[in-house]
Amino acid sequence: MPILTDIRTLATCRADGGQRDVHAIAEAALVWQDGVITWLGPERDLPSIFAAEPRSSAGHRLVVPGLVDCHTHLAFGGWRADEFEARLRGKSYLEIARAGGGILRTVAATRSTPRDALVDRCRAHLAAARALGVTTVEAKSGYGLSLSAEITLLEVYEELGRTDASRVVPTFLGAHAVPPEFSADRVRYVSHVIEDMLPAVAARRLARFCDVFVEETAFSANEARAILEAARAHGLGGKLHADQLSNGGGAALAAELGTTSADHLECVSDAGIERLAATSVTAVSLPIASLYLRQPSMPARRLIEAGVPVAVATDFNPGSAPSFHLPLAMMLACTLQQMTPSEALKGATLYAARAIGLESTIGSLAPGKQADFAIIDAPDHVHWLYHFREDACVATYIAGRLVYLHAD
Ligand SMILES: [Zn+2]
Repeated sequence: MPILTDIRTLATCRADGGQRDVHAIAEAALVWQDGVITWLGPERDLPSIFAAEPRSSAGHRLVVPGLVDCHTHLAFGGWRADEFEARLRGKSYLEIARAGGGILRTVAATRSTPRDALVDRCRAHLAAARALGVTTVEAKSGYGLSLSAEITLLEVYEELGRTDASRVVPTFLGAHAVPPEFSADRVRYVSHVIEDMLPAVAARRLARFCDVFVEETAFSANEARAILEAARAHGLGGKLHADQLSNGGGAALAAELGTTSADHLECVSDAGIERLAATSVTAVSLPIASLYLRQPSMPARRLIEAGVPVAVATDFNPGSAPSFHLPLAMMLACTLQQMTPSEALKGATLYAARAIGLESTIGSLAPGKQADFAIIDAPDHVHWLYHFREDACVATYIAGRLVYLHAD
């Protein structure tokens, strides 16, 4: 029964107390067995039955629950660094898309990347994320946009879920954009998603969630409603890319459908916030995307004060958020969205787990939960997000197994 001792601050992130309460324990110890936490508390209270068990030291550092990145577009071919530069030179996202760039360019690159190469790329990203303390990653399809290419992406995630050290939670995002083959008949593409893709994905249990990009340039609220209702009938949970570039009623739709999460919400209205507050929908904040697109970020303060839980994620993708650095997103949630470090930490742990339906097993540290945690070289989480360093994580554990150790 391994024991981690000499923890200066153990931020447990238990559910009670709301977003700002991470239930930190000073000078703590953590005990687990067979991957599951059996005891935690002040080290001086460590029961004597553990006296002979093997111990390791956290080095008088911070320990947090394994970070949960609850919104990524993990598998894609190619990159789009040239578009990053073009946007900085003044080209708009729409102009770039009209010139053949944007999501559809990544769709072409992804379709022409062999499956094994996609697996290898994802593995490298997941390993790099583990070195940041990230133990669970939600991963969306959506760069295939044909039945076979979407299935391939979900098979990539299925293989990673079986063989990679990280936990991977797959989401079907066939309604990410209308692919070129259907550009003249978007109605037929929505039908294709509902009648062909969803049943195939559900029959093989390749996804836990279905997501839809609701935006003027993507899908309407009515199209999203039809897709998510069909997904629910197949047993998939719902997610929405909502109110990112304009207010398209995404928050109200998420509230109406009772989706598990509503993501982005940069342009959410007061009425939308009110609707969300009356439901159990988790809002997912993606401040890296706001930063790269140089747009106002989610009004997280207003959401939190209205009682909406706000998760924090990266939105890792090759266009608007080409970084999987979740602690960076947490720091930006503080600096751009005025979330406190405690709120950002709970947003990237317990509430992120809630946003992917795994709150009962991961996202906080308590007896009975998975021993997923990270040792951070900081005295506490406030100092961690204040004195931001890209390599503050010194060790990461998943189900009690060491999966990353800083080289020094
Ligand atoms: Zn996204």
